[in-house]
Amino acid sequence: MTRNLPGLTLDELTKELDSRQRAVELLKWIGSWTAFPKELPETVPGVSHRVWAPFRARHGLPRVEVKERKLSEDGTTKYALQVDGAVIETVRIPANGRSTICVSSQAGCTRKCVFCATKELGFTRQLKAEEMLAQYLLARMEAPADAPARNVVFMGMGEPMDNLDEVLRAVELLTQSPFPQLRAQSVTVSTSGVLPGMERFLRESKASLALSLNATTDEVRAQVMPQNKTWPIRALLDVLRAAAERDPDRDTFVEYVLFGGLNDTDADADRLVALLRGLPARVNLIPYNPFPGTGLQTPTEARVVAFHRRVVDQGQLCLVRSPRGREIAAACGQLVLASDAQGFVPQPT
Ligand code: SAH
Repeated sequence: MTRNLPGLTLDELTKELDSRQRAVELLKWIGSWTAFPKELPETVPGVSHRVWAPFRARHGLPRVEVKERKLSEDGTTKYALQVDGAVIETVRIPANGRSTICVSSQAGCTRKCVFCATKELGFTRQLKAEEMLAQYLLARMEAPADAPARNVVFMGMGEPMDNLDEVLRAVELLTQSPFPQLRAQSVTVSTSGVLPGMERFLRESKASLALSLNATTDEVRAQVMPQNKTWPIRALLDVLRAAAERDPDRDTFVEYVLFGGLNDTDADADRLVALLRGLPARVNLIPYNPFPGTGLQTPTEARVVAFHRRVVDQGQLCLVRSPRGREIAAACGQLVLASDAQGFVPQPT
């Protein structure tokens, strides 16, 4: 299989173009795109025709078209992108003078998290690294001048650890010089807790990792994330602990979706702190973004505030992530196109 641009690494391009300098020019050219090209042009600045013509005969571009853009009042933009055989979603979230791009790693998902709308789509196919890069490039091109793209999170559709080869390549591509040259800490891969994939990711990548914990007992976690029966809480946190000892510079996040009456009690807050003791992880609390048919509740605002306070008061770093782009169904767990049309019930924020 030949790989398409922008899915080739600097080293691979150097080999193919027979020069580091040409490879660097090519990456700079990709960085200058203001639209995603339909095909590779006949000439590229800084790469001689003699070398470019055979390269162009061997490699193309993935097909990626913006099908729809939805802009939320808070500046969050959701893109529906047509790729080969699937529609995927990418979200750009501006905050504090920079934008975070949220990319999808799969078209659909095979995991069965009860609270996540993506599972309703089923699974269409794995995305290639170049398609993940294309999502970043497209969203970056349209970022407002006062909030340029600085961070990438693999928190869109899909479970990154179930497509790990391509996700690892995408992380390498995002962090390579001269373009896009993101810092490893600025790229965060989020997982529902696929333990073998987490172990490999933590060995092979310097990027940040977010674990979606979402409960403090195996019983409750298995209720909302059936795979917890295979990889329970303790085992997942042990993997994070071992990695933090090996590599203290990595940023680790624990995502905790708060469900009203299920995992949002004071006892949960205390158990959460106890579970994370000794682990240098930051907690992100995400109030559940509801969608019909799950039987799960959004927590009250007072509960969110009290839970947060109780965790912080015990010395655990913790932030509440306010839902972004809820009214355009761009918030966590809402990335499913069908529901947009079918009377999605947004909650006031
Ligand atoms: N599969 C990966 C990445 C996609 S989900 C993972 O599970 O981490 C990204 C984040 O959104 C996860 O932390 C997940 O727990 C959270 N999430 C999913 N559905 C949600 C919902 N309906 N409301 C709030 N957060 C949700």
